[in-house]
Amino acid sequence: MKNIIPRLTLLAAASLLLTACPSEKPAETTSQPSVAEIPPAKAPAFNADSAYAYTARQVAFGPRVPNKPAHEACGNYLVNKLKQFGLKVYEQPFKAMTFDGTQISGRNIIGQYRPELARRIALFAHWDTRPYADADPDKAKRKLPMDGASDGASAVAVALEIARVLSLQPEKLAPNVGVDVILVDAEDWGFDSSTQAGQKNLLEGQGDGWCLGSQYWAKNKVPAGYKAEYGILFDMVGAKDGHFTREGTSRQNALGVVNKIWNTATQLGYSDYFLFKDTDPITDDHVYTNQAGIPTVDIYDHPAFGTEYFPPYHHATADNMSIIDRKTMKAVGQTVLQVLYNE
Ligand SMILES: [Zn+2]
Repeated sequence: MKNIIPRLTLLAAASLLLTACPSEKPAETTSQPSVAEIPPAKAPAFNADSAYAYTARQVAFGPRVPNKPAHEACGNYLVNKLKQFGLKVYEQPFKAMTFDGTQISGRNIIGQYRPELARRIALFAHWDTRPYADADPDKAKRKLPMDGASDGASAVAVALEIARVLSLQPEKLAPNVGVDVILVDAEDWGFDSSTQAGQKNLLEGQGDGWCLGSQYWAKNKVPAGYKAEYGILFDMVGAKDGHFTREGTSRQNALGVVNKIWNTATQLGYSDYFLFKDTDPITDDHVYTNQAGIPTVDIYDHPAFGTEYFPPYHHATADNMSIIDRKTMKAVGQTVLQVLYNE
């Protein structure tokens, strides 16, 4: 991620809606439970140790920068993992040019759980890492590659763990929806005007240098004609004391899904992580999946206070395994598993 698209008018409208007082609830007149009171199927446990291990495994390949051997090897690992879970796997290779003129070979990786079901939910995450830690507070480190433990690996790991858990369920304990894990490549090689002001953006006026994999997938969907009721994007979901706010593009395109996720998190006791705080739109893969007709919510780490859009480890060498906390991954993974079981 990503530069910022402030849309203050939308934000103002949305916050009015959210702060409007509900009218007083009428007195109950019946003792029959309504359908809404029947508790939904309880989701199986999301194993945070497993998610942690998937994060560490990706980081151990080295930075997953397109065109590098570590990137190729990690991509193969992810394909094999999804196959191991019994998913139907597609690989979508593509070529793209980055803002600095590099021609990259990317690969989107798609795994379908219960592909026969018509009702589907998509889980998105980007699996590449930014080629350099250009936002590092230490100037000497800004050309170094970064581990992308939270920014990349943790998000893929949460999606993998959900796929693993689903794959273990007997049919009678499966959710009522099919689930697609869509791992997009080359999200993070974009031009950041705040850290790269001295460089030339060769894509200026031609397109967005961020989210190259999701842009390609949105224009060439795999599987062909793909449709989902909604999508959930994970990005930076592994850091200690992570906070997830209600981001602008998510609210604009998928407010009902935002509410489902945040309410479920609260019911499960994760309201320290999922804050009922509305924040500005950002550029991330959900911009393109929303444009492709899949209402998508971005669950990404946003500081709880202050004016920064991203946490201090964002695009810095600090984004390594030392900041990863199983509890944050558990909060995200268990919440989304429960959302799937509520369908
Ligand atoms: Zn990033």
